[in-house]
Amino acid sequence: MRRIAVLTSGGDAPGMNAAVRAVVRTGLDRGIETFAIYEGYQGMVDGGDRIRPITWNDVGGILHRGGTIIGSARCAEFRTRDGRRTAAYNLLINQIEGVIIIGGDGSLSGANLFRSEWPELLAELVSEERIPQTLADEYRHLAIVGLVGSIDNDMFGTDVTIGADTALHRITDAVDAISSTAASHQRSFVVEVMGRNSGYLALMAALATGADWVLIPEAPPMLDDWEDKMCAVLKRGRELGRRDSIVIVAEGARDWHGNPISSQHVASVMEEKLGLEARLTILGHVQRGGAPSAFDRNLATLSGAAAVEVILQMGPDSPVPVIGILGNRISQSPLQTCLERNAALDAALRERNFEKAMELRGKGFIDAFQTLRTLVRAEPHEPVPGRASLRLAVMNAGAPSPGMNTAVRAVVRLGIDRGHQVFGVSHGFQGLIDGSIQALDWMSVNGWAIRGGAELGTNRKKPSGSDYYAIARNLEKYEIDSLLIIGGWSGYEAALDLYRMRSQYPAFDLPIVCMPATIDNDLPASELSIGADTALNSIVEAIDKIKQSAVASKRVFVVEVMGGKCGYLALMGALASGAERVYLAEEGVTLAELEEDVRQLIEGFTHGKRLGVMIRNELANPTYDTRFMAALFEEEGGKLFDVRQSILGHIQQGGNPTPFDRNLASRLAADCIEYLEGQIETDEPQSAVAGLLGSKMGFTNLDEVPHMMDRRERRPRDQWWMALRSVARVLAQPGPSVEVQGSDEAVSVE
Ligand code: ADP
Repeated sequence: MRRIAVLTSGGDAPGMNAAVRAVVRTGLDRGIETFAIYEGYQGMVDGGDRIRPITWNDVGGILHRGGTIIGSARCAEFRTRDGRRTAAYNLLINQIEGVIIIGGDGSLSGANLFRSEWPELLAELVSEERIPQTLADEYRHLAIVGLVGSIDNDMFGTDVTIGADTALHRITDAVDAISSTAASHQRSFVVEVMGRNSGYLALMAALATGADWVLIPEAPPMLDDWEDKMCAVLKRGRELGRRDSIVIVAEGARDWHGNPISSQHVASVMEEKLGLEARLTILGHVQRGGAPSAFDRNLATLSGAAAVEVILQMGPDSPVPVIGILGNRISQSPLQTCLERNAALDAALRERNFEKAMELRGKGFIDAFQTLRTLVRAEPHEPVPGRASLRLAVMNAGAPSPGMNTAVRAVVRLGIDRGHQVFGVSHGFQGLIDGSIQALDWMSVNGWAIRGGAELGTNRKKPSGSDYYAIARNLEKYEIDSLLIIGGWSGYEAALDLYRMRSQYPAFDLPIVCMPATIDNDLPASELSIGADTALNSIVEAIDKIKQSAVASKRVFVVEVMGGKCGYLALMGALASGAERVYLAEEGVTLAELEEDVRQLIEGFTHGKRLGVMIRNELANPTYDTRFMAALFEEEGGKLFDVRQSILGHIQQGGNPTPFDRNLASRLAADCIEYLEGQIETDEPQSAVAGLLGSKMGFTNLDEVPHMMDRRERRPRDQWWMALRSVARVLAQPGPSVEVQGSDEAVSVE
């Protein structure tokens, strides 16, 4: 394959630019000519200068921009055979052999059809004498690869679509803001979010914001008088001390007869039945806009890079694949199957087969819905007679990590709802030593879902000596029979200590479960930890600002990020911000590499580069620290560029948790409680760490955990994300084979 094209189509989605950038740069790096088709299928039908080459520098400086720089459109002509024939003609005369299409369900249906018709379209063009037979023969195979750009997360073949995470950021920001004003005036709000056939945004936003009720297309309330039920719950919540009521409605919400439920109707009902002032906010296109989240940038980047690799390997008869993410890995699935499953879901909704609709959405969606149904309750269920009741202690340990509060809230509510008593331990292990332990009730965690920091307190205290005795006494005094530790490395170490000493101290012989919560993402047995996504977004936002500050000068920034000896934040931050160099503790730094970096900087700035960003993991090398690197580059840069260092510091540990971290916290909490319930019923209760393994939550026995930890380096032995290293390298700097064109002004580090 010599020439490929990329296009974005249908509703725009944040992250599309990152995908375009990755496609173009990966293509160029592979020695492929890359074209852009501007304005989606309309550009393919129009041809002319709407199909033209796109260069390395054309896609510089776009990672942080919402929308799509190559334009998107809805195109009626492409729905007709004539239109598609003209589109085929335009691809042929531009000698394009492969097209990467980034769009939603509709756009990808169009792509599938176009590809299946290709031979016939060519034959028609020949018989109309618009093209010679030789051209038709030469280009008889067209390769197409699809990427799903859609804020609704409404497509099979990927756990999450490009743009959905950003839309969730916009929604949670809005709902958080609305909550604070609502609480001040004891008001009620109805918030309508996008999703005609998909309740994903509404459900995940409700879970993330601690909303009081949610209405989604896939799971309507299965009652005729659902309005009464909803109002009763809201009323009871108020009586118990909630100061606001927030209801989230998906635009496609319906009742179980299939009649649409409008957000206006919900607001009117609340006013009538509750006598509450209910304000309606329809979020609309705000959800589509704005800078993409770190997750969307990286999802789009990795998918775009993979799309090129896939298209280069496709045989003449390969079916059209969709590139997506399944189980936390970039994946490909046959487009045809994905579209069929989408159609099945639409049919299930039309036929009001809601059970089937939920089943098609999958386990994660169902679990999230179940968890939400418990969390929105005004009060817990009555205890079920005969079911084992735990005396569960929950605590934080280690450095603060955004999402700890969300996790504690979920543990408390889900725990109490299942008939357990939940005790909160203040200030990490110090609290367990001092006996700062108190029972937590349902309302004690009200409003915690969205709060950064750690309301229970946390610290890095690791017990030693007589501490163990004190801990044992307190566990006995409060008759704690299961322990849930939400925390990072030091929390895991302490948990392992208690576990090891259980024969010495019988009080320690209780099921312990650790929930991974650290911004560093350096824990064993979980691919992601609660807080890492929030920190990553803080880093990426900071770097966006740092870059903008440098408009007037030629400048290099050396940005230091946290992570201890784990380079996750540095690498993912570099990928999401388009930094040209990243220094990881895993790889170290040598003088020879720094010399090479200096050489490349000089080379770049001599040829018009205006900005460079080098990201450094805080412990990348103890000698060549951030100050040293900045001084070295400054000295060597001479008059060509100046250098600033930026140590991001504790802003990375602060901030309200992102929707991803909140929902990870809630999901893990639900699973941890279930795990502990299971252990207490067995004769030999086990202890474990919880984690996200692929797309599933899983538990790893504490016996195995030490083998998974590199204690000396304080990081896990298995770091799945190191496999992404090469993508960051390829996209940051043009390799020797890439001819860099474009104006000097446009030259940017990205
Ligand atoms: P999205 O891709 O976001 O779902 P649309 O459904 O509006 O957005 O589709 C975008 C464009 O894709 C349409 O304007 C049309 O040009 C093309 N398209 C959609 N469905 C088909 C189809 N069944 N056949 C041919 N082209 C289609």
